[in-house]
Amino acid sequence: MMAQHTISISEIVRDTSLQPRAQLDSGTIQEYADAIKAGAEFPPVDIWETPEGMLLSSGFHRVAAYETAGVKNIPAEIHQGTRRDALWHAVGENKSHGNRRKPEDTARAVSLALADPELSTRSNRVIADHIGVGETTVRRHRDEFNCASGAVEKTIGKDGKARPAKTKSPEAIAAAEKKKAESKAKADAREAEREAKRKAKEEVERKRKEEKEAKKLAKEQAAKEEKERKEREREEAKRKKEEQAKLSVKDGLGNEVTDQFADAFRFSDKCKEWCRRLDAIRKEIFDACESNVPGSAFIHPPQVKSDIANAKRHIDGSLPFAVCPWCSGAMCSVCRNSGYVTKLMYEKRPKQ
Ligand SMILES: [Zn+2]
Repeated sequence: MMAQHTISISEIVRDTSLQPRAQLDSGTIQEYADAIKAGAEFPPVDIWETPEGMLLSSGFHRVAAYETAGVKNIPAEIHQGTRRDALWHAVGENKSHGNRRKPEDTARAVSLALADPELSTRSNRVIADHIGVGETTVRRHRDEFNCASGAVEKTIGKDGKARPAKTKSPEAIAAAEKKKAESKAKADAREAEREAKRKAKEEVERKRKEEKEAKKLAKEQAAKEEKERKEREREEAKRKKEEQAKLSVKDGLGNEVTDQFADAFRFSDKCKEWCRRLDAIRKEIFDACESNVPGSAFIHPPQVKSDIANAKRHIDGSLPFAVCPWCSGAMCSVCRNSGYVTKLMYEKRPKQ
């Protein structure tokens, strides 16, 4: 039974647990209040006459707007019933009129219905159709709700028949959670394994590179050392050869000279040096004469040339040529007790 009346706002019980919207919008209230003051008429609000008083189940914005506009009595439809009837009505309100509901509003409506011991026994489909949401939304809420406060085992459908609640049992939810956790653990393990494999591969690659680099360096180092060793050997051989050449003294016949006469034969080096210097002196004198250097008028270059040539010939002819063939180096009067003879003397040696 219901009838349209005018009711005093002061009589209305505004129980926020029957308010389907999560929050009242102050902008909407002001907008409605302005319209009311301008003479606009709004549809009647819904009031439930219950043992708990005149419960408002729809029109929370409108009541607040009338109040704001300073109006004391407002139009209302009065229903007879219980607080639960008011709640059921409240959660089904605003699905097609009034301010568009936000997701938190429909979520609140579903929660309010499921929180009621009796309303929660209604099937997901019945609740969903009444509130104006999808059946899965109700089922999802019921799953969450059951986790928190225990499952409703049977629900009542539109036809009034009780059927097992279309929801998951706490065990099923726990099993699903467990399965999810296990699958995540497996995925994590697989990822960890992949990561470990990748790292191992990187490590192998890095070591291989290092070894390759080390081998290359070692090879280069070995090549360098070998080159240096060969270079040292060549230097050493050259030095030895030079030393040998310095130490060994040969006579005019190409024979090795014994240590006893080595200095005497080396003397020929000094003689050759003197001969070079005599040539240089002759050139100096010739140049001076040619340029008529003062005081050179009476120098006769051909005479100088002849005399220097004689000096050179004498020195050259006096060089040790071979070990004395007469005494074989044991000293004799022929070699003037020197142990060696000149080339000219050698050529006159006694023939055997
Ligand atoms: Zn002799």
